[in-house]
Amino acid sequence: MIGVLGCMAERMKSKLLEEEKLVDIVVGPDAYRDLPKLLNQAEEGEKSINVLLSREETYADISPLRLESNGVVAFISIMRGCDNMCSFCVVPFTRGRERSRDVFSILAEAEDLFNKGYRDITLLGQNVDSYKWTSPDNGLTVNFAQLLEKVANIHPKLRVRFTTSHPKDITDEVLHTMAHYDNICKYIHLPVQSGNSRILDLMNRTYDREWYMDRVEAVYRIIPDCAISSDVITGFCSETEEEHLDTLSIMQWAQYSMSYMFFYSERPGTLAARKLKDDVPEEIKKRRLQEIVELQRNISLQHNLKDVGKIFEVLIEGDSKKSDQFFKGRTSQNKMVVFPKTDSFKPGDYVFVKIEDATGATLKGVMVQN
Ligand code: SF4
Repeated sequence: MIGVLGCMAERMKSKLLEEEKLVDIVVGPDAYRDLPKLLNQAEEGEKSINVLLSREETYADISPLRLESNGVVAFISIMRGCDNMCSFCVVPFTRGRERSRDVFSILAEAEDLFNKGYRDITLLGQNVDSYKWTSPDNGLTVNFAQLLEKVANIHPKLRVRFTTSHPKDITDEVLHTMAHYDNICKYIHLPVQSGNSRILDLMNRTYDREWYMDRVEAVYRIIPDCAISSDVITGFCSETEEEHLDTLSIMQWAQYSMSYMFFYSERPGTLAARKLKDDVPEEIKKRRLQEIVELQRNISLQHNLKDVGKIFEVLIEGDSKKSDQFFKGRTSQNKMVVFPKTDSFKPGDYVFVKIEDATGATLKGVMVQN
C-alpha cells in the first residue's frame, strides 16, 4: 500500500489518486490522526483521502519517534501553519492557518528528550516569533521569548535553537532572552529574501530594507557573538539589475554566516503566480544567483576565518563524515567543527575546541582542556 502524506498532498491529490492512480492514500498535514481509518478504507478498495486543513490541530499530545536521529539533536514543532502571505510561498495554502502548540506539551517533550540524552533542541515553526499560546484555564498567554526561557530553564546542558524567525516579528525581548541564557544558541536564521524595498513589497514580506537592517543591528548590538543566516530569492518578478545589487549589498552588510539561495521559480496558486509576471529571463536569474552564491561563499569563508585562534564550546554529534578518527559537532553559532577524536568523549558531550583552520563550510580544530 502506498500513501502520500504532507503539505503537498492537497495539491497533488487528483493527479496521484484519480488521474494516474499511483497511490492508495493521500493525507494532508492536519489529518494524520485519521490514518487508521484511511488505511482501513484503502484496504477495502475505497478511495482514501483527507486533505482538510484544521485551525486547531497541533498534534500537541503526540511525540514523534525519532528513527533517523543521532540521539543528540532533535526538533520540536511548536506551531503549525502560517498567517503571512508572502506572494511567492505556498505554505499558507498547503499548511493552513497559524496555530501555537500547548506550552506544557512542548516542555514535556523537551524534558523527555533531555532525559533520553538529547542535548540540542530546535524549536520549529514557520514564524516562531509569532508563537502565542493562551491557557484555556486562566487565559494567561505565553509568547515566544517566554517559551524560549522556559525551555532553556529545563537544564543548562540543553542547547536551545529555533527556526524560522520573521524579520517583521522578531522582538528585542527575544534577543535579550537569548543574550541572558548561555544555552540559547547564538544563531538566528533571519531570511531577508531581497535587499530591495520595492521587491520586498511585491513579495509581501511586510518589512523594507531599513526595517530589516534595524533588526540585524539589534541582533549584533544585543548579542555581539551571534551568527545570522538568511534565505535569498533572486530574479523575483520585475527585479532590475539595480535591485539585484541591493540584495548583494545587504548580504555584504549583514555578514551572514551562511544562506540558502535560490532563483525565483513560480509556484502555482500563489499570489505572485496570480498577480505578477515572472518576467526575469532564466539566464539572468541564473547569473544573478551565481553572483549571490559567490558572494556568500566569500563572506562565509571570511566569517569562519575570523574564528581561527578562538576557543568554542562544541557539542559532539558523532563521527565526521569523512573519517571515524574525527568527531564533528557544532558551536553555539551553528558552525560545524571537525576535530580529532579521543576515547574520553562521546556524542552528547561538550568539549572545548580551539579552531586552527577553516573553510567556507567547516571549522577545524583540536580539543583543549575543559
Ligand atoms: S515564506 Fe515563511 S512567512 Fe512567508 S508565507 Fe511562507 S511560510 Fe509564511
